[in-house]
Amino acid sequence: MIAMKRRSIVTALTLLIACSTLRDAPEVRSSPPNILFVFTDDHASHAISAYGSVINTTPNIDRLAREGMLFQNCFVGNSICAPARATILTGKHSHLNGVIDNGVRFDGEQMTFPKLLQAAGYQTAMIGKWHLKTDPTGFDHWEVLNGQGPYYNPKMRSAAGQREHVGYTTDVITDLALEWLETGRDEEKPFLLMYQHKAPHREWAPGPEHLDLYDGETLPEPADLFDDYAGRGSAAPQQEMTIEHHLSQRDLKFKPPGNLTDEQLAAWEAAYGPKNADFEKAALEGADLVRWKYQRYIKDYLRCIASVDDNLGRVLEYLDETGLADDTIVVYSSDQGFYLGDHGWYDKRWMYEESFRTPLIVRWPGVTEPGSVDEHLVQNIDFAETFLDAAGVDAPGEMQGESLVPLLRGDEPEAWRDSLYYHYHEFPAVHMVNRHYGVRTERYKLMRFYQLDEWEMYDLRQDPDELRSVYDDPAYAEVASELKQELNRLRELYRDGTSE
Ligand code: CA
Repeated sequence: MIAMKRRSIVTALTLLIACSTLRDAPEVRSSPPNILFVFTDDHASHAISAYGSVINTTPNIDRLAREGMLFQNCFVGNSICAPARATILTGKHSHLNGVIDNGVRFDGEQMTFPKLLQAAGYQTAMIGKWHLKTDPTGFDHWEVLNGQGPYYNPKMRSAAGQREHVGYTTDVITDLALEWLETGRDEEKPFLLMYQHKAPHREWAPGPEHLDLYDGETLPEPADLFDDYAGRGSAAPQQEMTIEHHLSQRDLKFKPPGNLTDEQLAAWEAAYGPKNADFEKAALEGADLVRWKYQRYIKDYLRCIASVDDNLGRVLEYLDETGLADDTIVVYSSDQGFYLGDHGWYDKRWMYEESFRTPLIVRWPGVTEPGSVDEHLVQNIDFAETFLDAAGVDAPGEMQGESLVPLLRGDEPEAWRDSLYYHYHEFPAVHMVNRHYGVRTERYKLMRFYQLDEWEMYDLRQDPDELRSVYDDPAYAEVASELKQELNRLRELYRDGTSE
């Protein structure tokens, strides 16, 4: 209500000035926009229909794309959960914000964009998955899952202590976000709300409303489900993240989530009991068994996304009903991409495209052209500076990204980056993906697995699935040399001296 009032005051002022006789009246800046950051965990772009998914539909995320701007080339700097979160908060690559892997505690004393927005007069809130070990700082209100949090009946902590919720976590987090919007806001201030889901993170436990979604269907398989990792170095064959060998009993739903109520357990068993009985009867082996596991995995992953999308719909409706929509930037993104059977994998970590990419859709009424698509190379180091710029707050020089506001306005900047830097650090660790850094341009990617003393290089135009490294191909020698120079330049630019 007050947000509407604020808007009508601005409208009245605009009219007043427009009608006045002052020819050189200064441009009236409307009040800073609210920012709603909708953030999921492990949601790959190729599981969003606005990005061309062939396996699911996401009507509410698509609505944001239809009403805003979709970034076709958004990437992360380190494809794993906690590091991506720390990068978004600080606008810095992992080696400078300190969270190089999931084991590190985030130093909440350091500068973050929510702190800067708060100092500039924003009311700030963080609800849902935080996953940075230390308590959130820079927020007027926060209530977060403990660590990864469960899919059902989460315990959540806030400045006031712990409380237990009953229900499906994606629904619970949305309820809390809507409750804060309805009753927690200071309506005299613009807000930043970080609304962050656990879903669709492993172990992909669907909500009660979607336990049967896709039953009886066979979803398309990726072309490289049976990748043999020939044509690349020794890192790809060494990983432990295959659909074939590395899914647990709980991932495969032979075990239910551990903390269901009796009613939830009954619904779960009614859904999975018959499916599991059919599986036992079929006694599959070899490629047929891999295909079955892929179907089980991908359907559960997409069922979790269906709940995310339903709940986003609830939030968008709330913004419409209250009139907040016109004053609110809504951003949809995820901490990284994910393998949806691509290369035979689940999980993330690699600089290969499926996990290096992340979705980014921004609806900013009056600024983003509805239904527009941006193709510049952008990265999660850019998010903090974008939010600050949108709010009219100067970004500190120590941030390493670029504001996306010019792109959101549809301007063509005179100079924009033509390469991206990447560095993955968590090894040895779960899934056994070797450390690597690299550079990606519009067409090429060079990766350095420094502990193995190996290089890989891909011509993404000729080989978009990255099945054949051309690093040793003499035809690409000159490109390889240029990319090495560019990689060195980026390591200096971003001050990454953490290895070699
Ligand atoms: Ca993640």
